[in-house]
Amino acid sequence: MNEDCRSWDFNLLRRHCTMEETEAISRIHIGPEGTDDKWAWKFTPDGSFSVRSAYHGIQMHRREQSNHLQHHDLNMPASEDNWKWLWSLKLPPKIRFFMWRGILNALATCLNLFKRRCSPSPRCQLCNAEEESLIHCLFLCPHALTTWEKVIPSLTSPQNFSQWIFSMRDQDSHLSIRQKIFCAWNIWKARNECIFRGVVISPTATSICAFRDAAEPHYSPPISPSPQPGVIPSQSCPPPINLRRINCDGSFDSVSQEAAFGVVITNSEGQMCDGKAGKILCSSPIEAEALAILAACQVAADDHVPSTILSDSKVLVDAVHSDPSLWPWRCFASLTSITKILRCSPWIHLSFTGRQNNKKADWVARNCRMNSLHPDWLFVLIVLSDLL
Ligand SMILES: [Zn+2]
Repeated sequence: MNEDCRSWDFNLLRRHCTMEETEAISRIHIGPEGTDDKWAWKFTPDGSFSVRSAYHGIQMHRREQSNHLQHHDLNMPASEDNWKWLWSLKLPPKIRFFMWRGILNALATCLNLFKRRCSPSPRCQLCNAEEESLIHCLFLCPHALTTWEKVIPSLTSPQNFSQWIFSMRDQDSHLSIRQKIFCAWNIWKARNECIFRGVVISPTATSICAFRDAAEPHYSPPISPSPQPGVIPSQSCPPPINLRRINCDGSFDSVSQEAAFGVVITNSEGQMCDGKAGKILCSSPIEAEALAILAACQVAADDHVPSTILSDSKVLVDAVHSDPSLWPWRCFASLTSITKILRCSPWIHLSFTGRQNNKKADWVARNCRMNSLHPDWLFVLIVLSDLL
């Protein structure tokens, strides 16, 4: 609080509270000097508690919540038709994934991370002038503004990312859609390269990349199976096809009590490109599965590449998307670590896959447990893959 003018110190509040808390505190009127703080029950005029007022308070809160949800739906015109249109555009998988995450407002902006308590500040890491929302990153930050001026000078900054994407459906030519999408993507990429790798950021370079990408011959995605049913059960909209996949599996031997995990990475073109295996300490098969998922999450979190992690443990995949009180107690610690990584790394998704689709990861985990994993096991696996 600023004592002199008896007003809230917003810089201080923003540093220590969430946006919602700051907003709520800012609504508290500060009394004149010498007024003491006091506790009050907000649902009665005199501030004293009654069961009746608590009941009314809960009802009111529920109504507000459902209004809020309806309002949110209006802001996100993501009908089935819209998604179909979006996935019909000939765009590389990483761009599809970027748009999909953007539409769900699940890209790792400081504001999103701050709301999830994964970032100490919501401020833009480039200009520090405003909160780092997606709209700020892509349209309002000085780097973005100058880039757009070079690519599409007439563009006005939108209010909402999903509306911006879906409004192109009826209005724009294919080339103009590509220009806009690739410009947004290159702005996002340049920001991240500057923030995470220290690459010098330049609107001229970003705009050249945007023009180059938009002009490239239309990308035709490789033919590959559509995503497994049950991908991202917590989301109601379909994910883009052809993401990088990370299969993981645990192996546990109840006699020797030895365990290991296997992780196999398949790139968006469907080729096995990397993997990881290691011994683990645990005392049940489900713990081995959970530690395998954790290992896959760590791999995916480290390299910032959009990925779908696939596990054949339905119990654990469901647990990740459910309340911690329902978690298998043996896996509580590993599920806590897994959910923390998933919360802070919106580019990773975990989903269930059947055992028949997880044979390679199973092979790696089993051979690692039995000390029979060849040093060049990835190469062996590529050769063997048709036989598994
Ligand atoms: Zn900024």
